[in-house]
Amino acid sequence: MKKIHSFARFAATSLALGLTLAGHSSVFAQAIFPIDRAAILAGSKFDFKVEFDRVVDAAKTRISINGIDAAKVLGAEPQFIFNEDGKKVSSFVLPGVMLDKPGSYDVVAVSGNARMQVTWEVYATGPRKAKNVILFIGDGMTVANRTAARILSKGIKEGKYLGRLSFDDMSNMALVGTSGVDSIITDSANSMSAYTTGHKTSVNALGVYVSRAKDNLAHPKVETITELIKRKTNMAVGIVSDAEVEDATPAGMVAHTRRRADKDIIAEQLFFSRADVIMGGGSAYFLPQTTPGSKRKDTNNLIDLFKLDDYAFASTDKEMKQAAANPKTRKLLGLFHPENMDGALDRHFLKKGTVPQFPEQPDLADMTRTAIEVLSRNPNGFVLMVEAGLIDKFNHPLDWERSVYDTIMLSNAVQVAKDFAAKNNDTFIMVTPDHTHGASIVGTIDDNKPGTEMRNKVGVYADAGYPNYPKANKDGYPEKVDVSKRLAFFYGNTPDYYETFQPKMNDPFVPAIKLTKDGPYVANPAYKDVPGAVLRTGILPQSADTGTHTADDGVLSAMGPGSERIHGFMDNTEIFRAMADSLGLAANANSTKMVKASKVVKPVTAAK
Ligand SMILES: [Zn+2]
Repeated sequence: MKKIHSFARFAATSLALGLTLAGHSSVFAQAIFPIDRAAILAGSKFDFKVEFDRVVDAAKTRISINGIDAAKVLGAEPQFIFNEDGKKVSSFVLPGVMLDKPGSYDVVAVSGNARMQVTWEVYATGPRKAKNVILFIGDGMTVANRTAARILSKGIKEGKYLGRLSFDDMSNMALVGTSGVDSIITDSANSMSAYTTGHKTSVNALGVYVSRAKDNLAHPKVETITELIKRKTNMAVGIVSDAEVEDATPAGMVAHTRRRADKDIIAEQLFFSRADVIMGGGSAYFLPQTTPGSKRKDTNNLIDLFKLDDYAFASTDKEMKQAAANPKTRKLLGLFHPENMDGALDRHFLKKGTVPQFPEQPDLADMTRTAIEVLSRNPNGFVLMVEAGLIDKFNHPLDWERSVYDTIMLSNAVQVAKDFAAKNNDTFIMVTPDHTHGASIVGTIDDNKPGTEMRNKVGVYADAGYPNYPKANKDGYPEKVDVSKRLAFFYGNTPDYYETFQPKMNDPFVPAIKLTKDGPYVANPAYKDVPGAVLRTGILPQSADTGTHTADDGVLSAMGPGSERIHGFMDNTEIFRAMADSLGLAANANSTKMVKASKVVKPVTAAK
């Protein structure tokens, strides 16, 4: 999201500024990474770092783990940095360490009268239960998105729905807490990192703890599920999104950087991840700067690199399906748009957004089907992440119809996975948001009510009745959103904007704009004269151009082997733990055999 990028720039600037002013050690807090209460998968890799808030004498410093010298426990001596980044502070670092034995670990660092202590929990996993794991992320998917998708897609009469979304009838469900290390409100980077590494991090960070390091790439890393799978198993990995593939959620599968806006670097990290299937938008970061539209700052052509590494390449829906139809295709790169792809409402019905320029973008359900087809050629199983990224991209600008059509599309994509899983019942499927938005359905809007004030056409309680969307087509979409009696779906945390009470039939909604370069965001005057439009004064700071994320829990649905761990309230890091457990990924677990050996399941051999 544009919003986050500008915040990232701000954060990076203030961080740099802090370091510039930091002649005095008191600017820095002291810290140990991983942080206190970190839960660590046995045998997973992490960078160990101890940051003192002053210069210390290495000879007089003792770092111990459960009372034993840390070097002995971690297998090597942490490297001493006398003046980190030239500042008057000392650090100890030891990259890529592992702890194999489950249990509680008290880490103590003492130098003179400086003392720090954290406690980690290292956990094992049981034997492998699932052959495949498919994690669906409805980015920013809020309960109201889910409810509205069910109303529009399935219909409701006399209080009872006439059908269910594909993820409504899964066996297990949990509420997920999404807050990060630095803030109660997460962005998609740090929430996805929690899902893919089991470690919390901070806004804009991917696969690292945010330390005081100056370089975005020098923060303490934690191993991603993609790295674990590629290091310990012969399984395949797939990453699918309708946002840019370098955007925070897909990036979270592979990336290590303090700043999610490092998209050119993330594109390279996608290449080095050895993920077998990568599909989505974002080709601008794969093409050399000499190509018009490129967003790279060098002449590297990453698409050529993938091709040299035996990846099939697709840039349209047709090419994607052709590549998948070839039984020899085991590795596939699909880039269907230079930026974020268009949403379901625009692609299937309105033909707005960038659909006229890019008419051959695949649907998320077809991308899911293709990814499963290619990945399931690996007899050892696969981990696939599929993101419906545009639910969030449309919730931000308060464009609820578009976000709900993409929620229906997510339901279709999940149905594809359920149909695949039904054959062998050896696939663990989860469907979850990474965070929520401040949205609710409050009733209906009825154009046929008397008067001209649109606000007086909003019906609540008994006056709401039911909307009159036409019955959905075979793909679950009503063919019309501009009906005479619509859902009244409103957002609570907004900038100033004009509420039109109407779907945006032209391009996606732009609620607020700047009238001068350095001025505040104000309600976009383009909507001022829509009949009945009212000015809603926002409650967000005037630096916000759209709605923002919320700390409300996400609702996760799950089924298949491994889903028994999904219940009650869960921290987002526990989603990683559920995946690791279903695949038996811990060091001391017997990850070579499934619990229920079946004819179709080939044993997985751990890589050296
Ligand atoms: Zn967002």
